[in-house]
Amino acid sequence: MPVEVLEEARENMLSLGETGIGVMEHSHRGKPFVAVAEEAEANCRKLAGIPDDYDVLFLQGGASSQFFMIPQNFLEQGKTADYLVTGSWSKKAIKEAKLLGSTNIACSSEDRNFCYIPKDCNYSDNSAYVHFTSNNTIFGTEFASEPEVPEGSPLICDASSDIFSRPLDISKYGLLYGGAQKNLGPSGVTLVIIRKDLVAKGPSDIPAMLQYRTHAENDSMYNTPPTFGLYTMGLVFKWILDNGGLEGMARHNAEKAKPLYDYLDQSQLFKPTADKDSRSLMNVCFVTGDDTLDAKFVSESKAAGFDGLKGHRSVGGMRASIYNAFPKQGVVDLVSFMKDFESKNS
Ligand SMILES: *Cc1c(COP(=O)(O)O)cnc(C)c1O
Repeated sequence: MPVEVLEEARENMLSLGETGIGVMEHSHRGKPFVAVAEEAEANCRKLAGIPDDYDVLFLQGGASSQFFMIPQNFLEQGKTADYLVTGSWSKKAIKEAKLLGSTNIACSSEDRNFCYIPKDCNYSDNSAYVHFTSNNTIFGTEFASEPEVPEGSPLICDASSDIFSRPLDISKYGLLYGGAQKNLGPSGVTLVIIRKDLVAKGPSDIPAMLQYRTHAENDSMYNTPPTFGLYTMGLVFKWILDNGGLEGMARHNAEKAKPLYDYLDQSQLFKPTADKDSRSLMNVCFVTGDDTLDAKFVSESKAAGFDGLKGHRSVGGMRASIYNAFPKQGVVDLVSFMKDFESKNS
């Protein structure tokens, strides 16, 4: 999270504005907190240009709970849910849908350990919806644009790791969701942007908490919302607006990833793992090709102050996660450390 946001949150944790009561201690139905929630939603709408026929929901249970809520609400009998399987998170998403109805793998990049974004999809004839993961956090690949979908089938996106990192056209989506903890704030709150006709279409004979309708009708306050997460996410929306909005984030993120990919492209020691046309601007994955050397790099970089570079176990090697709030200087410093490591180890 941006330092400015953390500092403001620190103050308000003790007293929300002049109220003398901390943001987490206010009743979620009291005026001061309702104002916080309303402002967060208004800034979210402004930031992403969310049309009026969409609801903005602040839910709990993480992106992982959307994996089952989506099929529970939209996978009707006689229809098939199409999934683009481009990494571990998409696999987890389709696994939940399989428990609830018919599914189809419209495309997969598992044949090459998810190092690319497939170009073509084979959709089912009776598609209930199309689900994709815009950024594959673990494998460092990202869709450059939204996939085409069959007529009438809503596009549903797990955007947990690149949400609000670049401009997006909400009207292309039926539902877009993301856990806040990568680009939007603290863990514990999930942003769901959903078209109102889909809210209305969901079944009403499933538990209340699992219906989008319940949350939409109650402004995400059917039960106690994750108040601190919602508040802090609101601060992040403001921070993004103050820093050039989504265009500003896209510029900043492209400027950040470039020095790292440029260096990797000419390095004799490190190799990026994702195909060039599928690279993520959020998660940059790379290897030396030698596990011992990778381990040495991770431990030496950590000692030099670059923490969290160890890649996910399913890819190995290294991963630099450079979400919205990560400063460009951090990348510049990392590249200089890598150059130094290369000269000592080649
Ligand atoms: C981190 C992540 C998730 C899991 O989010 P939770 O909020 O922990 O459930 C899901 N999808 C993607 C793409 C992620 O990066």
